[in-house]
Amino acid sequence: MRFSSALLIGGLLLFSGCSDAPKPPNLLFVAVDTLRADRAHDARLMPRIAELSRTGLIFEQAFSHAPWTLPSFATMFTGQLPPQHGAGGVANQYFGLRSEITTVAERLRDSGYATAAIVNVDFLGPDFGVCQGFDELDAQFTLNNRTLRDARGTSDAAIAWLEQRETGPFALFVHYFDPHADYTPPEPYRSLHADPRDLVPAAAPLGTREQIVAWKSGREPLTQELAQRASRLYDGEIAYTDSEIGRLIDQLRRQGLLENTLVVFTSDHGEEFLEHGGFEHGHSLYDELVHVPLMLHWPARIQPGRRSDAVGHVQLARTICELLAITPATSFAAPGLLQHGQPASSAVDGLLYGYGNFWGAPWESIRNDQHKWLGIPVKGAPAREEFYDWRLDRREQRNLLPAQSADAQPLRQAVQTLHERAAREQWRSGPPARLDPATLQRLQNTGYVGEEPR
Ligand SMILES: [Zn+2]
Repeated sequence: MRFSSALLIGGLLLFSGCSDAPKPPNLLFVAVDTLRADRAHDARLMPRIAELSRTGLIFEQAFSHAPWTLPSFATMFTGQLPPQHGAGGVANQYFGLRSEITTVAERLRDSGYATAAIVNVDFLGPDFGVCQGFDELDAQFTLNNRTLRDARGTSDAAIAWLEQRETGPFALFVHYFDPHADYTPPEPYRSLHADPRDLVPAAAPLGTREQIVAWKSGREPLTQELAQRASRLYDGEIAYTDSEIGRLIDQLRRQGLLENTLVVFTSDHGEEFLEHGGFEHGHSLYDELVHVPLMLHWPARIQPGRRSDAVGHVQLARTICELLAITPATSFAAPGLLQHGQPASSAVDGLLYGYGNFWGAPWESIRNDQHKWLGIPVKGAPAREEFYDWRLDRREQRNLLPAQSADAQPLRQAVQTLHERAAREQWRSGPPARLDPATLQRLQNTGYVGEEPR
């Protein structure tokens, strides 16, 4: 029947043949800034993510490689470790991503994908290069976190983009910033999650930048109780963001796109509430800062379920390319998380390396499937080291050193091997970011410029 139609209207055969061919899949990459894994895995806080998880593949033990935004996203998009891609730095001295480093967005764009990013922090904007490869970059920054484009506005922008896009495969990166301090959840999420004392925002409410600066500078005492109250406001922001991610997923479904879209859901780092004495993020590499959610959703290709092996963001760039049948850049060297829709039997030892903090000398960490080693710089003294059985001691409270020094030796050696490789391959920082006064002011207002906390 189709053949005879084609004889009558030759062009129709061509059209009809194309429409029968499998359409290239799309990519929706959703990242919630500052979202801890324990919160993301809590269906009470993220019911829409829990719902999506039932048909997705959850990586319960996924880790970022840095405790703050810029180096962490750069690793996700380049498949390289932070000292390797060189984007990062410390407060008041930032380095962007070198333009010659290939990103996954560039591979997608060069393979015919329409690429777009909707982001809400300067580190993902044009000054830092992390979003190179996204042809459309909708980057909105405001003076502080109380006036940012919130989750509703972010989902609105993503939905508008989906409605107006042209046919053909797309890669859309949507970045939500709401759980990042200030913690100012809108109703009804404030009422649902906040301590009763924090239901009505006061003139200097808990969780604002002014309050956090006062705590971190030592001008006002930060007690466990106050940290817990702040953490409940943080929870409210997460619940609010979840509802808006749900609205975006609903839109994909309504447009008939969900079935043929790889959805990646993750976070760039967590948040600390005095577990090891710090508050916010960027001060250490403990798991409250580097244990992140990670889900891949594409039931047509990926068997739903849960995996408990340790994996890292550095594997994402290759994973995305392999799933979308695009040749990965050779620099996406870490093994993919899946091969042909099945879990990969990859040895990740040596890859699960963490680097950096936000103030002063960088911390280093490395883990295998049982142990985690931390190298901690100490002002005026040799670096301290800690060693944990992270499977048994999830809160990292029992340092096994010096008693189990021999057990730590393979991980120390893995870090040493990485240092030797960095010297051999001349890993270096990216170009210094030149920031205008308005950008510097915004970064100060969100806690990224200023004096080192006590
Ligand atoms: Zn971040």
